[in-house]
Amino acid sequence: MAPTAQIAAHERLGGCACACKAAVRCHPALSSERKASMRGVVGELLAAAGKDKGLVSLGVGDASAHACFRRGGEFAADAVACAARSGDFDCYAPSYGFPAARRAVADYLSAGTHHRIQESDVFMTVGGTGAITAITTVLGGAPGASILLPRPGFAPYEAACKLVGAEPRFYDLLPRQGWEADLAGVRAMADGATAAIVVINPNNPCGAVYSTQHLLQIAETAKELGIPVIADEVYAHMVFGASKFVPMASYAHIAPVITIGAISKRFMLPGWRLGWLAFCDPNGTIKHNCN
Ligand SMILES: *Cc1c(COP(=O)(O)O)cnc(C)c1O
Repeated sequence: MAPTAQIAAHERLGGCACACKAAVRCHPALSSERKASMRGVVGELLAAAGKDKGLVSLGVGDASAHACFRRGGEFAADAVACAARSGDFDCYAPSYGFPAARRAVADYLSAGTHHRIQESDVFMTVGGTGAITAITTVLGGAPGASILLPRPGFAPYEAACKLVGAEPRFYDLLPRQGWEADLAGVRAMADGATAAIVVINPNNPCGAVYSTQHLLQIAETAKELGIPVIADEVYAHMVFGASKFVPMASYAHIAPVITIGAISKRFMLPGWRLGWLAFCDPNGTIKHNCN
């Protein structure tokens, strides 16, 4: 289904079919602005542009919608079919994910990095979006909690914060500095109840790939504020030109890093809905401070 067809279907179903005047009410974070998903945002933009203009939708990052990218799943399709046929996975999965899957992600993330990620540090989720929901729920639930989000950013973070009662606070990405984070702004807006900072690298929507120097600055800022970095690396290894992707977890000895990943973008399999959270905390900071 082409992205535009998906949006049309979404419109029909209604991001929240709140035309209903009955007593069924949506959570305001989902109903008011329909910004809980990228499709909601894109749908709103397309509707605002009117019908007389031919628009190219660059809003939903689904390469599999284009025939030339559509064979992404071939390398794993046999293994998945075999697993389904075996019946070995018909049972309820452990809630953290099957051990073999967690191990595979841990090995994938550990290749060539300073800090090894263990199987027990990985939690399988329903796509990267499931990882966003899970980590926001875990970290954002304390009274007065806020989570620092990049602006421009990725809409589902804001909705996920609001759903758990955490305040989203937006720090700027600086266009004249290659869309780096405004870390002075970050320091100014954090307080004792700030739970984490979200860093999207490679960046959606700006396309920036952060240098090792900037990643180090981010880690040092997080350390200063006593918060973990939620490193959204759903676009890991997808870079323009000679840019090099370096995982945020390379700096986990400075501040704990919780990496969000998925097979949706890099492996072009968004429909398979597989993602993960991976904790990298070599100093045990999270464990020591968790109460
Ligand atoms: C697509 C995307 C996600 C969500 O990944 P899914 O696996 O599609 O749920 C998370 N973060 C960013 C920055 C994305 O672009």
